[in-house]
Amino acid sequence: MDGANSRDRELRQRAEAVIPGGMYGHQAVGLLPDDYPQFFEKGEGAHIWDADGRRYLDFMCAYGPNLFGYANPQIDAAYVRQLGLGDTLTGPTALMVEMAEAMVGMVSHAAWAMFCKNGTDATSMALTIARAHTRKKTVIRAKGAYHGAAAWCTPRPTGVIETDRAHQIFCDYNDVASLEEAVRQAGDDLACIFAAPFKHDAFIDQAEPDLAYARRVREICDQTGALLIVDDVRAGLRLARDCSWSKIGVQPDLSSWGKCIANGHPISALLGAEKARKAAAAIYVTGSFWYQAAPMAAGLETLRLVRDTDYLERITALGERLRGGLAERSKAAGFALRQTGPVTMPLFLFDDDPDLRKGFCFSSEMLARGVYVHPWHNMFLCAAMTEADIDGALDAAEGAFGVLKRNVRDLAPVEKLAFLSAGAR
Ligand SMILES: *Cc1c(COP(=O)(O)O)cnc(C)c1O
Repeated sequence: MDGANSRDRELRQRAEAVIPGGMYGHQAVGLLPDDYPQFFEKGEGAHIWDADGRRYLDFMCAYGPNLFGYANPQIDAAYVRQLGLGDTLTGPTALMVEMAEAMVGMVSHAAWAMFCKNGTDATSMALTIARAHTRKKTVIRAKGAYHGAAAWCTPRPTGVIETDRAHQIFCDYNDVASLEEAVRQAGDDLACIFAAPFKHDAFIDQAEPDLAYARRVREICDQTGALLIVDDVRAGLRLARDCSWSKIGVQPDLSSWGKCIANGHPISALLGAEKARKAAAAIYVTGSFWYQAAPMAAGLETLRLVRDTDYLERITALGERLRGGLAERSKAAGFALRQTGPVTMPLFLFDDDPDLRKGFCFSSEMLARGVYVHPWHNMFLCAAMTEADIDGALDAAEGAFGVLKRNVRDLAPVEKLAFLSAGAR
């Protein structure tokens, strides 16, 4: 932030004293360009305001949760109404049954639903249910795929011990031979295979699921009795009004959901097929806040909007408009910009940019023009965005490409991301 006395700067200094590292997890300090704000004060529709009152069109959507706009009037009214009646009570309200019915009615493979708070709760529960169902231990998952921040799956190994990670075998996403090799290594101990709906790893080009890979995962699970788990925590409801792999005709046994299913209110879900019901009923999982009623009221309203509006067609059209417009403008400025991932969850990377210095410069210039984009994580579109918002972002991009073009030979290395050029990609 410019100005030593900005509110953001002051909050960062105070945070350093009372919050470990100044901030943690995906908000950890130092992974974004230095001019990116750390603190925000409000959100409305497709926009966020930072702690210094600057407004941005937000292509991160809270890393997914914002699907229908921040402070969506209908969803938040349902939430507030339920808060007035009761939220965390001695037990659940009728809303829990309604929410389970709504999700089971919407997702083809699902016969039942369980609710929790975070995506990590849902993926961890999926693992436990698969082990309970199969009485086997080994999980196969793709290298680099994110499934949450519990000890078994956190991407940062500090404080994690070998036994936390025991019985896991890694394969390469979309690579049938490496999948089959992992299955061979699992022997007769395979409990489950995790699959991201598409390859949405950070720092690299995104990739659609290969149909042969998805079908082979299904076949292996059918042959061995292992459970196929699609982790839809991030992509759920931005690709389909069903599990994301329904688009390619492959049904999982379990699917994990979170982020946007209540438009930002805290609730996540695990959905399962009939065959896993018994194991799901047998495990002990719970939490003080898992029966909260207000997020369920918000979730029901969110799912109603999913069913009754053309939000998916609209965000898809907006995403196409953004992708086409950026392709034109980057080309005109002489840059090879790789836009990968579904149009509703795009990621931009520049050619010949090993430490992302071009990406950092472009993102900072977008930020300076009131558009919040991310230089190395997939972004998200929301239904509160308009064509005018996208066109404004394209104007900003034209300016940003111009500055990048003028400065491209003199960009400073991005030292904080030096690990990328060191081969982690
Ligand atoms: C965010 C995410 C999770 C974890 O969800 P939390 O709510 O952060 O615990 C799991 N899987 C995927 C694919 C995610 O994007």
